[in-house]
Amino acid sequence: MASYFVKLGGNTMINKERLLERFLEYIQIDSPTKLEREFAEHLMKELEKLGLEVYMDDAGEKVGSNSGNVIAKLKGNTDGETILFSAHMDTVSPGEGIKPVIKDGVIYSDGTTVLGGDDKAGIAAIIEAVQTVIEKDIPHGDIEIVFSIFEEGGLFGAKNLDYSKLRAKTGFVLDSGGEPGHIVVQGPAQNKINAKFIGKEAHAGVEPENGISAIQMAAEAISKMKLLRIDEETTANIGFISGGGPTNIVTKEVEFHAEARSLSDEKLKEQTDHMVKCCEEAAEKFGGRVEVDVVNAYSAFKVEEDSEIVQKVKKACENLGFEAITMTSGGGSDTNVLNAKGITAVNLGVGMRLAHTVDEHLYIKDLENAAELVLEIIKEYA
Ligand code: ZN
Ligand code: CA
Repeated sequence: MASYFVKLGGNTMINKERLLERFLEYIQIDSPTKLEREFAEHLMKELEKLGLEVYMDDAGEKVGSNSGNVIAKLKGNTDGETILFSAHMDTVSPGEGIKPVIKDGVIYSDGTTVLGGDDKAGIAAIIEAVQTVIEKDIPHGDIEIVFSIFEEGGLFGAKNLDYSKLRAKTGFVLDSGGEPGHIVVQGPAQNKINAKFIGKEAHAGVEPENGISAIQMAAEAISKMKLLRIDEETTANIGFISGGGPTNIVTKEVEFHAEARSLSDEKLKEQTDHMVKCCEEAAEKFGGRVEVDVVNAYSAFKVEEDSEIVQKVKKACENLGFEAITMTSGGGSDTNVLNAKGITAVNLGVGMRLAHTVDEHLYIKDLENAAELVLEIIKEYA
């Protein structure tokens, strides 16, 4: 556990009871991916009431969600740099009808759903910090907020946001595991690789020599592939394979879905090219065809240790007595997209544990510390 001290002057700044209530309220408003509308409208009302300029964009229409991203702005009372805070509104399944259970300072679901702390802990922390800033008239620069849709499964909300409407060049995503003080400064790029082998059907008992087996082609390709851990920075995996029918027919079609990730865009290209080549060579060897579809899911990002953003977050952690730890993520988040769009961003730990499982839980202390950290970052940039 990170150590923390009570700050000089006694109590912490944020309203802990309100923060907890807020979080419990949020997770009980269902917002599965692509059905974020009800929750989005709830947040918009809340932000408007606080006096922020709020709107919803049209990203939902482009990606098949019933809601757009929620974008809000709080005008500064200093000329400090504009900064952005972001978190995603959607939750993974099973995530409908969440019933929180609190035990010994820890919030769990009732065991039938996820908790939704991924990423409503981030949203609650951001709004609580902003409300505190307003109520206590704390000096701050312009603050921009993005609550995104459809993060899970592809970062589609962030990818379809209109970045020309944002002024911030510095951003903080609150969507990481690890206690507040954990700072994700690096994340991998990912490619999705879908291959479909097309052979030729023939009766397997009567005239197999006239067939081309898609199963053999796929097996040949996969057996030649470097997979799983490629090097320190690179991984690859085949997660799905399907095809075939009765044993008396030479199989015409087989498809697989694979991914490759790397902290280096160059190595990702190398690994992807290798996987594509294995498919093509296998198809050629058996005289069949292969259609390979490569989609870049997101690009890599790296924020330098000595950059202003990392230094400021570390300073904010120090002010609060949190241990600051910079780390690399194995997965993608909206942070990857923000960096690709020219906003230097890091992903901050909000304490979510066992996210994406029904055992997901959150320490109330971590939730409080996440809100305190957002507030402290605002002060550092004022
Ligand atoms: Zn998340
Ligand atoms: Ca997630």
